[in-house]
Amino acid sequence: MTDRPTAVVTGASSGIGAATARALAGAGFHVVLGARRVDRLEAVAKEVDGTALRLDVTDKASAAAFVEAVPECRLLVNNAGGAKGLEPVEEADEDDWRWMFEANVIGTLRLTQGLLPKLRASGDGHIITVTSIAALAPYDNGAGYTGAKHAQAMLHRTLRGELLGQPIRLTEICPGMVETEFSLVRFEGDREKADNVYRGLTPLSAEDVADVIAFAATRPSHVNLDQITLMPRAQASASRAHREG
Ligand code: NAP
Repeated sequence: MTDRPTAVVTGASSGIGAATARALAGAGFHVVLGARRVDRLEAVAKEVDGTALRLDVTDKASAAAFVEAVPECRLLVNNAGGAKGLEPVEEADEDDWRWMFEANVIGTLRLTQGLLPKLRASGDGHIITVTSIAALAPYDNGAGYTGAKHAQAMLHRTLRGELLGQPIRLTEICPGMVETEFSLVRFEGDREKADNVYRGLTPLSAEDVADVIAFAATRPSHVNLDQITLMPRAQASASRAHREG
């Protein structure tokens, strides 16, 4: 047991989630980390004196067991997710779309539904959802991901109204380009394609996004940061970036 408030971070085995676990631990939270790669999760948990629990957000039983194992929750960071593929709608892969909707949308639904009673019981709950600039506008070849991120954003933004009057804050984080394993996952391990995404510019780091999440989480209880968009200086939108060389 701990007297630190508990923050649950999904997708904490790499990228933004792992950096967020570190930032929240630094801000005084006891962090419960969830993801599928338990070895990596345990390494981060050890570093932050947190708790690692296996979680597959696309599996109903796994999500339920995870929720059950979390005794209390003051902050939920819905971060698990990502993209698969980058094709025109005409060539889109149905399995990729199914994965994106399962991981980003249904996963967020499962964790949010499961942890809402504990967030409410904390008397000062907070849900932070990492959507994307892909939740703000379409871009060519990205309909599966932009569609899933828009749906995830609607789930999150709808709660702002549905939970009004209850002690639960809601913050949506919309990052642009962040250099993590995101592109490697999107392009099924193709390192050259992944590196090309960040070619000729300085992308955000996972730590840049984690800083913003920790900032939102540490405002006084009456202050709700509704939506925060952050991009590299060299990026103006999902389809416009300035590259050197
Ligand atoms: P990442 O390094 O690939 O991290 C994704 C995390 O999600 C991993 O920890 C992964 O862990 C976890 N995850 C994936 N499927 C899961 C599942 N079924 N159950 C539980 N955990 C799962 O990429 P990232 O950039 O940090 O992505 C984090 C979030 O930021 C995602 O929602 C992504 O859409 C969003 N985002 C990223 C960018 C970007 O440019 N990188 C921009 C905007 C928004 P396991 O594989 O161990 O399960």
